[in-house]
Amino acid sequence: MSVESLIFEKGAPGRRAVRLPAMDVPTESLDELIPASLIRQEAATLPEVSEIEVVRHYTHLSQRNFGVDSGFYPLGSCTMKYNPKINEDMAGLPGFARIHPLQPANTVQGAIQLIYELEQYLAEISGMARVTLQPSAGAHGELTGLMLIKAYHQSRGEGHRNLVLIPDNAHGTNPASATLADYKAVEIKSDDKTGGIDMEHLRTVLAAHGTNVAAIMLTNPNTLGLFDSNIAEIGRLVHEVGGQLYYDGANANAVLGITRPGDMSFDVVHFNLHKTCSTPHGGGGPGAGPIGVKAHLVPFLPGPLPAKNDDGYYWQDAGPQSIGKVRANLGNFGVLVRAYTYIRSNGPDGLKHVSESAILNANYLKHELSKDYEIAYPYICQHEFVATAQWQKDQSGVTALDIAKRLLDFGMYAPTTYFPLIVHEALMIEPTETETRETLDEFVKVMRQIAEEARTEPEVVKTAPHTTVIGRLDQALAARKPNLRWQPGQELTHA
Ligand SMILES: *Cc1c(COP(=O)(O)O)cnc(C)c1O
Repeated sequence: MSVESLIFEKGAPGRRAVRLPAMDVPTESLDELIPASLIRQEAATLPEVSEIEVVRHYTHLSQRNFGVDSGFYPLGSCTMKYNPKINEDMAGLPGFARIHPLQPANTVQGAIQLIYELEQYLAEISGMARVTLQPSAGAHGELTGLMLIKAYHQSRGEGHRNLVLIPDNAHGTNPASATLADYKAVEIKSDDKTGGIDMEHLRTVLAAHGTNVAAIMLTNPNTLGLFDSNIAEIGRLVHEVGGQLYYDGANANAVLGITRPGDMSFDVVHFNLHKTCSTPHGGGGPGAGPIGVKAHLVPFLPGPLPAKNDDGYYWQDAGPQSIGKVRANLGNFGVLVRAYTYIRSNGPDGLKHVSESAILNANYLKHELSKDYEIAYPYICQHEFVATAQWQKDQSGVTALDIAKRLLDFGMYAPTTYFPLIVHEALMIEPTETETRETLDEFVKVMRQIAEEARTEPEVVKTAPHTTVIGRLDQALAARKPNLRWQPGQELTHA
C-alpha cells in the first residue's frame, strides 16, 4: 500500500454520491425549533465524494485492520477463534435486531426465551445453579461476582472479610476487580516447578488470615495453560476458613464438556462469551461476561431474571437481597444471540470436541516450537502454553516484542507478550481449535525462520515490522501522547 493512498483528502467540489429528496419540513418552523446560536452560518468543510471513492476509502481502511478473518491470531488468553457467520445471520434476524429493551414481554417472547435457554445452557456447562447475563465483559463479571460474594458474607454477619487471594500469574483484571469491589488483593505464589498454586504458601496465608478471606480468584487451567490438579484441595482449604471460590472463566475453552467449575468446588464463575463462544472481539467490545453462581448465592443475583409459566416467558423481579442491576437493560443482547447460536450449533458433543481440538492444537504447536524456543513449563498443556524468547535474548538481544513484531511481516498476529508476569520474555500462544494443520505448520515454519534470523541477522527482527503500513511505534510516546486525530492537510507518514 503506498503512502499516497493513506492521504484521507479525497473528492472535488460538487461531487456527490447520493441526491437527497427535497426537504419537506417547512424551513420557517426550523428556525423556531433550533436556537439561532446553534444554526451554522457557513457550510462545513466536508469532503465531497462519489460513491466509489467512499467505498474504496472504507474498504482500504478495513484491509488495514487485522482480524481472524484475515489471518492466524494466536493471542494467548484471548481465544481468537473463528466467528462462524451463522452467528451473524441469527443476530441480524429482525425479531432479535429490531426490538427495544423496554418492549412489553408479550411482544418479545422469542428474545426472552433465548435468554432463558442460554442461562440454562451456561448453568449446565459450568455446573452452577443460576446465571445472570447482564455483565458486559469478563472484568465486569468479576466485579459482579465479587459484589455477590460481599453481599453473601454481609448477610451472614461476616462483612469484615476484606481479603481476596489471587495467584501471581493471574490476569490483571483480577486484582483490579478486587480493588474496585473494595477488597484488598493478596498475592499467592505459584509453584516454580508445577506452575500451579504453591500449596505451602496458600496454607500459610490461610492460617494467618483465614477469617478475613472473602474469596480466592482462580482460572483453571491457569494462565500458563496448566491444569492445577490440587483444585479439590484448594477448594477444601478455602471453604474451611469460610472463603468463596471465584472462577475466572476466560480459559473455559479447555474444559467444555470435560470438566465444570461447579464440580471443581467453585461458587461463582464468569464466562467470556466473546472468547469461548466465538463472538467477535479484539476491538474493545461489545462482549458479554455472564456470571453463574451456586444455589447459596442465587438470592443476591442482579435482576430481573427470565422466568416461564403457562402464559409464556416473563421477567421476574429480583428479591430483597439482590445487589441490584449491574447494567442498563438486559445485557449485550446481540452477543448473547451469537453465543446461543454457537452453543446450539455445536451441541454437547460439539462443544467437547471444541475443547479437545483446542488442547490438541496447542500441544502440537508446543512440541513443534520446543526445538527453537524455550517452553516455560514443558508439560502437557491445555488450550495454550507459554514459550519464551529467553534463548534469543541471551544469544543476540532479540526480545519477545521483536519476535511479536516480526510475525506481523508474515501476515500473522502475535502471541500475547510479557504475560503472565512470572515468565520472562513470555510469548503466550493459543492457537484455538478452528485452525487447520496447514496453518499451524505455516506458523511453525515462520517461527523457525524468525529463530534463525535471531541467530544470523538479528537486526531484521529488532527493526520489524517491515511490511506493515505503520512501522514500529515508539510505544512510550504512543501511550503517553497518543495522536489519534487526523487533521485536514496532515500527511500520514511512516513511523
Ligand atoms: C480476557 C481475560 C479476562 C478479562 O476479560 P474481558 O472480557 O477482557 O474483560 C480475565 N481473565 C483472563 C485470564 C482473561 O484472559
